[in-house]
Amino acid sequence: MTNHAKLQSWLLARRDELNARLGNIKKDASRKNSADWSEQAQERENDEVIDALGNETVIELNKINRALDRMNEGDYGLCLSCGKAIPEQRLEVMPYADLCIKCAEAQGL
Ligand SMILES: [Zn+2]
Repeated sequence: MTNHAKLQSWLLARRDELNARLGNIKKDASRKNSADWSEQAQERENDEVIDALGNETVIELNKINRALDRMNEGDYGLCLSCGKAIPEQRLEVMPYADLCIKCAEAQGL
């Protein structure tokens, strides 16, 4: 356990940020329903952007929640595939990484 506390506060801050973003995306999406008929083509394009953004946000949130769970369970920072410790430098760049570089590359990630 070295600087996991620092990473944990980053993860918590990031989770709040993403939850706020998701809330805004949903607000935008529900506003769409009252849109004028003539605007619907444009609205539909916007919906696709919102979907893509929303999906990305949900995927990142899931990764963050999993990392926070693993911190609570005490196995944070261990590669899910080979079980070795993920180097600190990698965790600092990607705090929710759950594979070491070798295993991530092996899986084509
Ligand atoms: Zn590994």
